[in-house]
Amino acid sequence: MSAQMTDEEKVAQASMRFAFYGRVSTEDNQDPTLSLPRQLANCEKAVQEAGGQIVAHFFDVESGAMRLDQRGSGKGLAGFDIPIPRDGGLADLLEEASSRGFDAVACESINRLSRNPSVTFRVEEQLGDEGVRLWAIDEPFEESFGSIVLRHVNVGLARGYLHELKVKSRQGIETAAKQGRHAGGKALYGYKFAEFEHPNPHKAEQGLKVKVLEPDPTTAPVVKMVFHDYVVNGLTITEIERKLNGDLDRYPPPQSPDPKRRTGMWGRSSVWEILHNPKFTGYQVWNRRQRKRGGRLNPPEKWVWSEEPAHESLVSREMFDRANLTAIKRDNVTKVAEGHDQYRKHNYVLRSFLHCGICGLRMHGNVRRGRDGAYYTCELNRRQASLVPEEHPRTVYLREDRAGEKVVEFLSTHVFGPERVDALREALATTAPEADKAQAEVERLRGELAGLQTRIKRLITNLEAEEPGREITADIRARMDELARLRSKKQSRLEAAEKDATQVPDPESAEALMAALPLLDVDWELLSDQEFRALLMALNFEASYDPTKRELTIRVTLIPELTHPDGPRAPLLFVPPAGFEPAHHAPEACALSPELRGLGQENSIALRRFNQQDEPLC
Ligand SMILES: [Zn+2]
Repeated sequence: MSAQMTDEEKVAQASMRFAFYGRVSTEDNQDPTLSLPRQLANCEKAVQEAGGQIVAHFFDVESGAMRLDQRGSGKGLAGFDIPIPRDGGLADLLEEASSRGFDAVACESINRLSRNPSVTFRVEEQLGDEGVRLWAIDEPFEESFGSIVLRHVNVGLARGYLHELKVKSRQGIETAAKQGRHAGGKALYGYKFAEFEHPNPHKAEQGLKVKVLEPDPTTAPVVKMVFHDYVVNGLTITEIERKLNGDLDRYPPPQSPDPKRRTGMWGRSSVWEILHNPKFTGYQVWNRRQRKRGGRLNPPEKWVWSEEPAHESLVSREMFDRANLTAIKRDNVTKVAEGHDQYRKHNYVLRSFLHCGICGLRMHGNVRRGRDGAYYTCELNRRQASLVPEEHPRTVYLREDRAGEKVVEFLSTHVFGPERVDALREALATTAPEADKAQAEVERLRGELAGLQTRIKRLITNLEAEEPGREITADIRARMDELARLRSKKQSRLEAAEKDATQVPDPESAEALMAALPLLDVDWELLSDQEFRALLMALNFEASYDPTKRELTIRVTLIPELTHPDGPRAPLLFVPPAGFEPAHHAPEACALSPELRGLGQENSIALRRFNQQDEPLC
């Protein structure tokens, strides 16, 4: 190789040589001619910063879920003019790795390589055998305990929810919307879907169609009438609602996607939604709603309108503006209330994750109509008396919106937000290190075991002193059996505690892992996402509400075994919990809702014992 080394190669060898690997899925809406150059540009930048350069380009257009032997066929590339010189696909990459034309492989994120964990790890291993490193540029370049764990976490997350969950799925939906396509769901009231051939040749080949909105002959005139009545005739929303309900055959009401909310009638909110939906102008609009907390409407000057109409308009832009001009301020008030309404149908996202801080049992969701909406509760009279401590209040109560707000805040500050490492550091600095606690638990259990051992020995001595066959010997034996059972129980708890104690990560590794988790925009809307509970599960999310302190303690545990569900569940990193404390103390602790309104916004961090629980909490 050195004999035929070109000048270019000599330059390349002065620094680390990288191969680029990119992939665009045949399953999502991305355009390979745009996505691959973007992936390459991101990798080039990162590689340059790491002091290397890209010397070879491999990419595929195919599903990342496939098995390794099905990968890299090149079939998916047909029909695309991709402006990157291609040295081959995944199979070629592995082959060339053996000739050591490069020292490392760079990809935008680990799921570009594959979404199938077994493929990812096999590729990583094969490359490693050739001395070639695999670097996902959204992970740290330096290899460390943290980066290795992170790789596992990312692979686990890539497999399912998180990848698509927020950032990318929203980008996809926005892209689709910009192109006048509809990613899914029902047609907007006033419209129906018309289908056209898919612009992506692969999808067209598979018979996939693109859906475009087209006016619906029955409902489109209703939309036009609502605007006309409101803007030109000066009717109020209530008057319009009455008019519509007066002739439901002629003015069929919109159907809520939630069957429970379908009334078969027009409501004030359905009229309101029509008057405020800019899609009726034919344009797409983004950024209508704040992404943080509560999802309030942004002022219209912050809205982003598509450059071109995406579908046929039912009302003019002028008509829409006139309908909205006077209403925006007033409607924000309505919208906040409706935000709670929307929240209510999330179906208790914290169900099974939220425990009562007094008795440790799961709190269950409930709804109180017309008051504070959904809440979680632990009721004394629904609990088995033996499970509940004496000081348990009659009812422990926590509003879902309050709890949800705190969960969003916690996830966005402590897990997926840019300031999470600082938060972690601060928590570790201001509270006793976890390692000490784990060690203390080990000591405690050892002490208990030694005590048991002594008691058993004493019984043996007693037994030896008695004559066999006497009644007392049976009693002593029974007692010994009991102690022996207790001993074996404690023994296994000690083993678990010792394991925990050795696996508590040092702060540095914890920080590295934390820092390298994907940054995500966690917001109020996320709570309504179907996948939100799956995300909480992946994070081993737990929350416990202590009504006496009015403190919600939240904790997540990151484990590398996301990819190996049957493997040991050794906790690797705990994100310290955030609690909230009341702005002022309630007159009586554990009281019902009105007192809970004192819940403050201030986040206090309280490190609790959060070793793995051996027994389920309920
Ligand atoms: Zn309870």
